[in-house]
Amino acid sequence: MNVLVLNAGSSSLKFQVIATDLDRIERDDDIRLCRGQVERLGGEAIITLQKGQEAAQKSTAPIRDVSAALQYVLHWLVSEQSGVQEIRGPEDVHAAGHRVVHGGELFHESAVINDDVLKGIEECIDLAPLHNPHNLKGIVAVREIFGERIEQVAVFDTAFHTSIPEHAFLYALPYHLYPRHRIRRYGFHGTSNRYVAHRYRALRGVTREQTNIVTLHLGNGCSCTAIRAGQSVDTSMGMTPLEGLVMGTRSGDLDPAIVNLIASKEGLSSNEVDAVLNTQSGLLGISGLTNDMRVLEEELKEHNDRRVRLAIEIFCYRARKYIGAMLASMNGADAIVFTGGIGENAPDIRARICEGLEWAGLKLNQSENQQTIAREGQISAEDSRLLTYVIPTNEELLIARDTVRCILGEPHPS
Ligand code: ADP
Repeated sequence: MNVLVLNAGSSSLKFQVIATDLDRIERDDDIRLCRGQVERLGGEAIITLQKGQEAAQKSTAPIRDVSAALQYVLHWLVSEQSGVQEIRGPEDVHAAGHRVVHGGELFHESAVINDDVLKGIEECIDLAPLHNPHNLKGIVAVREIFGERIEQVAVFDTAFHTSIPEHAFLYALPYHLYPRHRIRRYGFHGTSNRYVAHRYRALRGVTREQTNIVTLHLGNGCSCTAIRAGQSVDTSMGMTPLEGLVMGTRSGDLDPAIVNLIASKEGLSSNEVDAVLNTQSGLLGISGLTNDMRVLEEELKEHNDRRVRLAIEIFCYRARKYIGAMLASMNGADAIVFTGGIGENAPDIRARICEGLEWAGLKLNQSENQQTIAREGQISAEDSRLLTYVIPTNEELLIARDTVRCILGEPHPS
């Protein structure tokens, strides 16, 4: 089955086409046929297209919205120029899987999209006004372009965390705010967590029940999750992705009184303060330079700038603090797993985060750590009680697999 995987955002559409079926899932030999993205929708869009493992091609074109972007991608896909032999016409795309950010308390697992599921995603718009409307546009665009012929599946970022118990998901606010406005911790990065937990099981040859790990997804967004007996029992992101770790442009945890203080002292509206916390804080805010960890590391080496050093230190310190909190929340773990752009590619950051975790039994193998970049591997020393792994995430693959399993009515375990 050729599955079109879509991640539709406010100004971009990311896609992959993955050839997979139950046999391929079993053998772990799904094939990514192509991938790409259309960025800056609404103006002169930047289009990146890549067949298989070949080099990406970049171009620009005026593209107004998600639907026009999908038309553009399909046109390329079926053309000789794409070189994707498996897709000669729209009929060679057999199903679509969508990343949907918020499933609230409604969706505990991925779901074949029908009118009820569409209504459910709409009901969650209040919870993720910046994401769910765009995810819905992706679903509507597929219906418009491919008709009712292909089935679509929604894979929710929040679903994996619906196992978090009440004592960990409720905030200590007046209780009625929870039923009245659905204010609680939901957590995100669920699909990434499911994928790395699945790979951890394969690497160690353990069962779901034996999966006791703390994951650190460190990308532009960053989160830390406690997975006990294969289930999420706590996570650092909250009602929105703003809570928890220091991120590229998000502050993560802060004293809630600061919000009002910034508003009154800086003369900002609540929406403007929200924007400061989400888009001008984190690594970017502290360094005053960039949200890109690669650039920060280079700057630190070359100029040893104080604010760049601080940004990295605060980032690593917060991550370490959360590892400790999650270990306490789950009665200890067998392993720490690093993933996401920073977690997979930045050994010095991993080393800084792990520094001072000897009390928890964690000892890194420094040379393994340095050599493990953009690939799976164990980076803890032989005699480390708490194991440490790098596992590159692959959310698109899990979305494609869930799509196949949901359509065929097969179980799609977390
Ligand atoms: P997203 O959360 O948008 O999917 P990614 O998972 O791709 O983002 O992570 C992006 C982050 O990963 C950026 O901060 C980027 O600088 C960082 N990153 C990617 N490669 C490296 C590298 N080699 N060294 C340090 N940081 C890296």
